[in-house]
Amino acid sequence: MTYQTLLEACGLSTGQTSSGSLVVTTPVDGSEIARLETHAPSDVEAMVTTATAAFKAWRDVPAPRRGELVRLLGEELRAAKEDLGRLVALECGKIYQEGLGEVQEMIDICDFAVGLSRQLYGLTIASERPGHSMRETWHPAGPCAVITAFNFPVAPWAWNAALALVCGDPILWKPSEKTPLTALATHRIFERALTRFGDAPEGLLQVVVGDAAAGNVLVESPDVAVVSATGSVRMGRAVGPKVAARFGKLILELGGNNAMIVGPSADLELAVRAIVFAAVGTAGQRCTSLRRLIVHEDVYDKLVPRLAEVYAKLPIGDPLADGTLVGPLIDGAAAEAMDKALKAAAADGGTVHGGGRALVDTYPDAAYVHPAIVEMPAQTDIVREETFAPILYCMKYRELDEAIAIQNDVSQGLSSCIFTTDLREAERFLSAAGSDCGIANVNIGPSGAEIGGAFGGEKDTGGGRESGSDAWKGYMRRATNTINYSNALPLAQGVSFDID
Ligand code: NAD
Repeated sequence: MTYQTLLEACGLSTGQTSSGSLVVTTPVDGSEIARLETHAPSDVEAMVTTATAAFKAWRDVPAPRRGELVRLLGEELRAAKEDLGRLVALECGKIYQEGLGEVQEMIDICDFAVGLSRQLYGLTIASERPGHSMRETWHPAGPCAVITAFNFPVAPWAWNAALALVCGDPILWKPSEKTPLTALATHRIFERALTRFGDAPEGLLQVVVGDAAAGNVLVESPDVAVVSATGSVRMGRAVGPKVAARFGKLILELGGNNAMIVGPSADLELAVRAIVFAAVGTAGQRCTSLRRLIVHEDVYDKLVPRLAEVYAKLPIGDPLADGTLVGPLIDGAAAEAMDKALKAAAADGGTVHGGGRALVDTYPDAAYVHPAIVEMPAQTDIVREETFAPILYCMKYRELDEAIAIQNDVSQGLSSCIFTTDLREAERFLSAAGSDCGIANVNIGPSGAEIGGAFGGEKDTGGGRESGSDAWKGYMRRATNTINYSNALPLAQGVSFDID
């Protein structure tokens, strides 16, 4: 299948993708695959007006009926899974299997949201006054901006959109300027669900094509009730204060610097598989990628050489080809950032295994790299940085509390894990004195979360939660209702206020 045939299979005709100032290239070989028109700030403002009108109609549609639209979206995604999964691989460079996994995550969250549409429960609360009742109700919040990153071009949109839609909020989606095609293809899929649904208001989903400036219009608009933004800590620092200044609802999903502790009792073969998937999968470009390995001194000399052995045999290549496990980085700048980090680590006393460009002759315009393992004498500044590339820093520890201290001694707080068969160690790691991350796992890597749990992290990761559990509350506003069904007007706390 040529790139053009794939775009067409995803509903993107040549007419729509052949002119405009935004040039879309594929990391597979660096070639141009599309050109798109971008939205000016005034276009984005008009889209917000459309979303506001859609909100007024959509909030009155019963939530289970809103769920029906998401059920249809799930069906359409099932039908489009292979094509969209392939387009994800083509546009962001992750291997096809991971592209399929990303679309499956979209399907899973649709299923979750359909059930949720009948479970937007509030509490009933005992009133202290006779003849009174109290309850809590949840109402749609308003238009919801979803700003997404290049490395997960579609799943995080779905984590937000499936929930927001059943909660009654229209969506304004600003995808990464590096991956707009997958967003437009998802929009086509959504349109098919809308047609089958029948009477949804116009503008329930609008895609804003553009860069940070286009996203900023959504961030600053007082009519955008919820801003859910996924990306770098730098982006979060720009977006967060602006949304806070207008008291908007904010969900931030920012960078991670995720660690694994490997204890002396760990099942090392299990650990090796988990480490390689988490550190090398998506070429180290997951927010949950494993970046730091903190290994007990008794097993370090068994584990790290075994990893180096596996790394040396990893199949690097075209992410759309069978058998490839490591695809390209998104662009040349990412490969340069990797080189720079490896040099800084070496200057800090690190021993680097691997690294450097791969497949330069076959793909001179792409950014394939050899994943790197770096043995570090200590956790230096470069280790504390999130370099979005397949670099795994390895460090030794002696006592568990020392390992937990190293794990927590970074500014990010997304995902973490421990490999151990010692129950005390596992529970210590999961306790209040253990990992300070939003995700803490035992005998499983830090990446590849299921949609049922709330996803997100603490500290510089931004504190937002998306996906499962009660993350839906972020897309609604809460009202506390007190109802007096008596003939008197007793005041709370027994306050007396007689006017005659
Ligand atoms: P990025 O911050 O460069 O861009 C992310 C999105 O934010 C893009 O759509 C971009 O146009 C937009 N943006 C940037 N600045 C903005 C501004 N000032 N106002 C409005 N919009 C703005 O990130 P990236 O390079 O695309 O993605 C990689 C980063 O994302 C990594 O740090 C990774 O850890 C993080 N990430 C986090 C999660 C998570 O769930 N925690 C998931 C995926 C990626």
